[in-house]
Order: sequence, then C-alpha cells, then structure tokens
Amino acid sequence: MNRTITVVGGGLGGLATAALLARAGHKVTLVEGNEWLGGKSRRIEVAGQRIDTGPSLVTFPGVWQQILETWDSFGDGPSAETIAGVKLERLPEVGRYYFRGQAANLPVEEGHPWHAAWQRFQHEHGGLGEAITTLLTKDPWDPGILGAGKELLKRYGIRLTTKSYLDGLDWMPHDLKDVISIHTLNAGVSPDQTLALYATMAAVMAEDGVFVPKGGVYEIAKGLENLARAAGVDLHTGEHVLSVTPGVVTTAAATYSSDYVVSAVDGGILEGLMGKRSSPPRKLSCSGVAIFGVLEEELPADIVTHSVMMPEEPEALFRSLGKRQRPQETMAFLNYYRAGDIYPNTQPVAALLLTAPPDGKACSFEDDFVQRESRRFSDLLGLSKPITEMMTEHTILDPEYFAGFGAVGGALYGAPAPWWRSGPFHSPAYNSKRTPWLWRVGSSVHPGGGIPAVLGGVLISTRRMLRALQD
Ligand SMILES: Cc1cc2nc3c(=O)[nH]c(=O)nc-3n(C[C@H](O)[C@H](O)[C@H](O)COP(=O)(O)OP(=O)(O)OC[C@H]3O[C@@H](n4cnc5c(N)ncnc54)[C@H](O)[C@@H]3O)c2cc1C
Repeated sequence: MNRTITVVGGGLGGLATAALLARAGHKVTLVEGNEWLGGKSRRIEVAGQRIDTGPSLVTFPGVWQQILETWDSFGDGPSAETIAGVKLERLPEVGRYYFRGQAANLPVEEGHPWHAAWQRFQHEHGGLGEAITTLLTKDPWDPGILGAGKELLKRYGIRLTTKSYLDGLDWMPHDLKDVISIHTLNAGVSPDQTLALYATMAAVMAEDGVFVPKGGVYEIAKGLENLARAAGVDLHTGEHVLSVTPGVVTTAAATYSSDYVVSAVDGGILEGLMGKRSSPPRKLSCSGVAIFGVLEEELPADIVTHSVMMPEEPEALFRSLGKRQRPQETMAFLNYYRAGDIYPNTQPVAALLLTAPPDGKACSFEDDFVQRESRRFSDLLGLSKPITEMMTEHTILDPEYFAGFGAVGGALYGAPAPWWRSGPFHSPAYNSKRTPWLWRVGSSVHPGGGIPAVLGGVLISTRRMLRALQD
C-alpha cells in the first residue's frame, strides 16, 4: 500500500532515505532548510574554482554499492549506478601522516621504522572490511551479523575500546599507536570513547582503499539527488521546518501532512521541533575550522592528496576538546588537488581542516589558532611559507557555520553515544512504539562516523520501515 512520507532534512541521510522510500513506491516529500541539498556535503566556488566542503574521503565503498543495489531491487529501468553517475577513484594511499618529526604513509612504506609493525597490524586487521560493512549495513537482529561480530571480537578479546586494545599491543611502536588512534577523531571523539573497531578501520582503509568521486565528494550528494528525482521525490529547499507533530511538518511557507515523518536532522534539533524541552548534551563530538583556498602555485611533488598533521601530544588535544577549549596544537588535514585533478579546475586548490572544540564560535582567517597551525603544518610539509599565505582567495567555515544547521556547538557528529551503545544500538532508536509515525536516520541514530555510518543506517532504518509499512 502506498503511503505518504515527509522527510525532514536533505543531507546525505535524508536524500538516500527519500530516494529508497520513493523507489519502493511511496509518495515522498523532502523538506530542506538550506538552499542547497547535501547538508554538510556542499559544493562552493572560490575564485571560479570548484571546491567541495564537508566530507573529503569516501571509505567502505561497499555501503554506497548497497544503496545502489537496494534502489535497483525496487524496480526496473536504468540502473542506479547510471542514474547516480558517481565514479569513485581510489587514492594511492590513505594519507601521509606527520608526527613527532616523522612522516609516514598509510600503508607504511618499506624501509620506515614502523613498517614491520604496520605490516603485522594490516595482516591481522586489513581483511575485516567485509565484516565491518556487514555491521554497518545489517540490522542488529539479522542473523548474518553474528559471524561478522564474532570475527571482530576474536581480535579484541576483552579490550573493547580503541585505546585499551592498542595499549595491549606491546609489539607496536607507541607513535604508530597514536597515528592509528587519531582516526577516532573521524568520529569526533577520543580513543577511549570508541569501540576497538576504529583501530581496525585504519587497516581496512589501507587494504581496501579510500576514494574520492571523480568531480569531488559532492558527486555523492548529487547522485543521491538524481536517484531521489528519478524515483519521484518532491524536493523542497530553502524551507526551514518549524515544527513536527504526528504526521504534520510545518514550515513558514507550507504545511506537509503525511502518514509518516522521517527525521534526517540531528536528534537535538528534532526534539526542539517536536516542542520537547531538551538540555544541551553533556558530551559533544568535535567541530572544525575549515579553510578552502585557491593556491598561487602547485605544491611540491611529494605532497600527497590527503596529509594529516598530528599534535605532538594527542592526549592534550583530546583533553582540550573534552573541555570545549581551543587546543594549543590540533589534528589537521590538508586536502590538496592539483589543477585538473579530481575537480575540473584550472588552478590548484587546498582545504585545510583544523579539528576544533564544539564551541559554536566564529573563527576568522587571521585568528591566532588558524595562523599558528597553518605555520606548523606548512613547516612539517617543508613549504616555503604558510599554506594560508599561498591562498590567493579563500572561504572559511567554522563551528558557528556548522552549528547553523547541524548539532549544538557545530559538533560534526552530534552528541556521541557511549562506546557500548555505538551504531544501531544507539538511543534514540530508529522508531519507537510511542511514536509509530516517526522514523529517524542520519548522524543522530548512526553516530560515530561519516558517510558509511549514515548510509548504512539509512539501509537498516528504511528496510525496517518498509517492513513495518507492509505489515
Ligand atoms: C568538515 C567535515 C569533514 C568531514 N569529513 C568526512 C570524510 O572525509 N568522510 C566521511 O565519510 N565523512 C566525513 N564527514 C562527515 C559527513 O559529512 C557526515 O557524517 C554526513 O554528511 C552527515 O549526513 P547527515 O545527512 O546525517 O547530516 P547533515 O549533513 O547534517 O544533514 C542534515 C540536514 O538537515 C537540515 N536541517 C536541519 N534542521 C532543519 C530544519 N529545521 N528544517 C529543514 N532542514 C533542516 C540541514 O540543513 C542538513 O541539510 C565530514 C564532515 C565535516 C563537516
């Protein structure tokens, strides 16, 4: 039976959900507050050059593949792959990491002091990509998940957090442990707050690759929009939702009545829209200050696409983020695209992403934090001057920007769940008996990760929803 469904929020989670539900035969309307679709994933122009903001790497491509296959399974005609038009390109390395006077690629190259330990680690964990993809995409009650869970637990024993697991590996150099641990900031939290799975992810990314779609990561948002349009979703942008009541979504311009509502916005935002009083979360994942610029010239040939600068003392960074204070030194990414590489640009472009506390504050280009870290990173990279000084034009996005349409304080991954309630076991659930008309997707029900977690959560939540609608 066809139902009417309103999806609130047009980030990657909302777009994917709308596309799948409409393809399954339901009448779907999506309402997005910003003028653009994609949420944190957005495409901007700086001095006529294309730069995609928000996510920069696609990991666990099997999850994206499952979105396409699920869409295909609901009907005939041109394939989802053709309609979405996303072409993932594998980067030669996960990234180049700069830490305590050393630089190393992942996978660690031969001849490097960490090579032997990394080889052992990748040998033990690199093959777990399929198991993690299963955990990301299958319902926790699906019997298929047991095998995947067991395979992972075999590695960890009783050491279930990233920190406790890595602490137990006495054969691994301390600095390499820190490099592996810093990946938990991809979930916005410290290694003692995440499952040991996050350590494994570094090895899986090295084994199975990290990807950027040809044209930029925003191609994922565009691909999902194409699928949504092809399935007949009625898409509305620039309409900020003001309230959500059973079956009714209200904006300043219209009232959308439907059988079901899917929230693809942060959990705290939804509570506000439903008129519930909610106190700000005690814990928040990190935020970021992102500077996107056009470079006056290409960088030296040894600078890879994705460089990672570590703080000398990662523990001090985790402590500062926990207290919502600007750290003395942070973890930063530099995404660098030569002219014509990935983007159809005529000039080189770079994105400098500084991990920052979720304080919701604006940050300027001239801010001491930005200038200091730009100098430190550029020295590590061996550049002749700070990367920010090499930018002829730039745009800056700060915690205030992210807070504008996301979670409190601009927390990139919302409020983190305790490690033992990660992923699909997270509260709030996808749906509850008390509000059978309301379903949830996106970062608030699948925290702790980026695109794979959000899209994996969409698969789990929409499968359950479709079963419930059928019943
Ligand atoms: C700087 C940065 C770097 C990142 N790097 C990576 C990476 O390399 N790889 C990776 O996999 N992930 C990365 N991520 C994470 C990834 O971008 C997110 O996990 C993902 O995009 C979240 O999608 P979402 O749909 O859950 O949420 P959002 O993108 O936040 O979507 C929510 C949508 O709801 C809308 N909304 C909110 N309130 C309302 C309202 N009242 N009315 C109407 N609409 C509303 C918002 O405007 C938004 O469009 C990064 C994120 C950031 C910010």
